[in-house]
Amino acid sequence: MSGDGQIPGPAVKADYFERPDIGLVKLIREYIKQFGTPHLWWGHTHTKPPKGGRVTFLGKYSLPKTHRRREKWALCPCCSPATPKYFKQGLIAWFPDEGVIRCVGDQCYKTLDPEGYRIAMELLESEIAEQRSTEYLLSRLPKIPDYIRTIDANLDIVAAIDQIRRELVLNLEQRLAIDLWSELKDGMLRYVVRTPRLVQRSDGKMDVAMSSEFRDFGRVDGHIALNPAARKLALNLSHRKENLLAIYPDGDIAESLRSMTEVEKKKISKILSGCHNQCNGLLEEAEVVRRFFSRVNASTINNWVQQDGVSLRVHLKFADDGFHVGRSETGYFLIKWPDKLWHTLTRLEPLSQPMAA
Ligand SMILES: [Zn+2]
Repeated sequence: MSGDGQIPGPAVKADYFERPDIGLVKLIREYIKQFGTPHLWWGHTHTKPPKGGRVTFLGKYSLPKTHRRREKWALCPCCSPATPKYFKQGLIAWFPDEGVIRCVGDQCYKTLDPEGYRIAMELLESEIAEQRSTEYLLSRLPKIPDYIRTIDANLDIVAAIDQIRRELVLNLEQRLAIDLWSELKDGMLRYVVRTPRLVQRSDGKMDVAMSSEFRDFGRVDGHIALNPAARKLALNLSHRKENLLAIYPDGDIAESLRSMTEVEKKKISKILSGCHNQCNGLLEEAEVVRRFFSRVNASTINNWVQQDGVSLRVHLKFADDGFHVGRSETGYFLIKWPDKLWHTLTRLEPLSQPMAA
């Protein structure tokens, strides 16, 4: 039995108890684009959806230009099974409880089941956004050789930064037993100010007590250079390079994309954006670590140890031959500047996402 005699086959076509895949959705959209008649697609069920049933929207569509005149509009199983009802914004809706697909008008479905509509629409919008983001990321695959070249140009510089960070920690902690990191974990040097104040004793007489209070002395840029548990930046960077090489297709990129499943596409796009993010994060961290080695920081720390209430003894100097670390100006270890330490680090070109439509 059909809605108006023109719907092909039985009105209910309950073949879809599993979620239809993206291939079927593409096929339905193609059909609508070609013929302009969503209600005539062979898998469409032309009955009114029962109240309270679950719904998932699989995709949106509009009728082609040839079907913009009212008499050519589509019929809607929700509200208008026999007369033309809509041409703009139709929805491919899947009803898992009945195992059917209906092509419905957007606004009338909203009227029929506002809450179900809201939830299903939010999900569809987020799926569309994810799909768009995956496609965008896959379009960046040809950029991988550029990313690899940028990583290669940075690797020696980052290795030099790892080296000087390692030597700094080694000299301070092991050779000098100076724990500067404990004082600088949040980047701020503090000192103690003691102030006398009068307090009343239990026998009623007055007494002087000292109260102490921490005050900020100064910020040290690049303090994370002192972290003894820091990760090896160059090693991580080369691992990300290997990951990028692993997802770079052999041969023709367009051809490999055509042969990928949706799951593979999602996975590859996630690896690409993850690696890209991490590479720039590692380069950012290297840049910050390197900033620790400065005249300003050396002088801030040297002045800080002079303050009352600071018990640490350390003296740092930024010199032509390298960084001097010691307990005082007279006795120090020299950490030579590694080759390429001060060469320019270059970030990977931004992997910007397209604007949401
Ligand atoms: Zn309707």
